[in-house]
Amino acid sequence: MADCGCGTARDGMEDFLHNEVDESMRVDISDHLACCPGCEDEWRVGQAITNSVKRACCEEAPQELKQSIHQALRESD
Ligand SMILES: [Zn+2]
Repeated sequence: MADCGCGTARDGMEDFLHNEVDESMRVDISDHLACCPGCEDEWRVGQAITNSVKRACCEEAPQELKQSIHQALRESD
């Protein structure tokens, strides 16, 4: 069975999480994750971190915040 190995999977993990690997690398790593619980754990943790960072950066400003900004702008006129 073809196996890129833990070293390759973990080296590429960061880029894999950010979708910055090429197609063959992506396939290699996802195949490896499917059969290696250790690396799969690593990936899940990385994914959780990546997602929470993404949420924090990309989330729309809450409506309340927008309103208070508008309010502040109006008051400064
Ligand atoms: Zn592994």
